Amino acid sequence: MAIVKDKKTGRKEIETEFMGESMSSKTLIASTEGDVIRILPDVNVVKIGGQSVIDRGRPALYPILEELVKNKKKHKLLICVGGGTRARHAYEIALDLELPTGVIAAVGEATPRQNARMVQMLLAKHGGVYILPDDFEKLPLYFGLGCIPIMSGMAPYDYWEKPSETGRIPANRTDSGTFLSAEYLGARSLIYIKDEDGLFTDDPKKNPKAKLIRKISAQELLKNELPDMIVERVVLENMINAHHMRKIQVINGLKKGNITKALNGEHVGTIIYAA
Ligand code: ADP
Ligand code: MG
Repeated sequence: MAIVKDKKTGRKEIETEFMGESMSSKTLIASTEGDVIRILPDVNVVKIGGQSVIDRGRPALYPILEELVKNKKKHKLLICVGGGTRARHAYEIALDLELPTGVIAAVGEATPRQNARMVQMLLAKHGGVYILPDDFEKLPLYFGLGCIPIMSGMAPYDYWEKPSETGRIPANRTDSGTFLSAEYLGARSLIYIKDEDGLFTDDPKKNPKAKLIRKISAQELLKNELPDMIVERVVLENMINAHHMRKIQVINGLKKGNITKALNGEHVGTIIYAA
């Protein structure tokens, strides 16, 4: 590699493949297709729902944590945590105040962090450590020591959250941040622990006729949109472009044994895959 002077422009340039490129050329972007390593291929990323689990308090959360701890020796676990009702309250106020999506996303960061801190304290005696995205580099150390890292699931777009297709609610919330963490790590699995048996044809809490869908592709779900969803829609969009996380599992954590089964690769709940 050499530093050369462009005869026409007089500009000093570093001789490199992308020299003089805007980085927006379609052919250049396509040329970067290729294999991607898995950084932590044996880590299971598990999201504990904010509204679906943590807001239910002790009767819901304690048995889930207990089951996760029981699996700790066999499975490396990175726990991401959702926000729930307090986040929704903040969203509602910010929307009423006509604040933009970016502000709502920034405000939405606080509650999952509170929840992650509480979960960390509950798991402290089992090696629970609270981490920030900057601590990703230390994950091998934490796993080496037998720890359970816990973090907010919120996608850290903050003020830079892109405007939503419709409405003003940030499209990337804690399901999305959890997905993106698992994808970048090249994790072994991604399990969403919620309070329903999986994805139904509609919200089973509102529509008693809703039927459980055991397995479905992200493409099909995006094509034939359901009236409501158990995971953030943007997760499906990202799955299709993902190098690693082309499968997610949504399980009912309120039923004992489901977490263990999912970690052992059994089909409980709903599996959504990128075709
Ligand atoms: P979390 O707190 O884990 O982010 P949410 O409350 O945001 O969970 O989303 C899970 C909830 O989504 C479920 O409790 C369920 O009531 C609702 N829901 C909406 N649509 C569906 C659907 N099609 N299938 C299953 N659950 C759905
Ligand atoms: Mg949610």
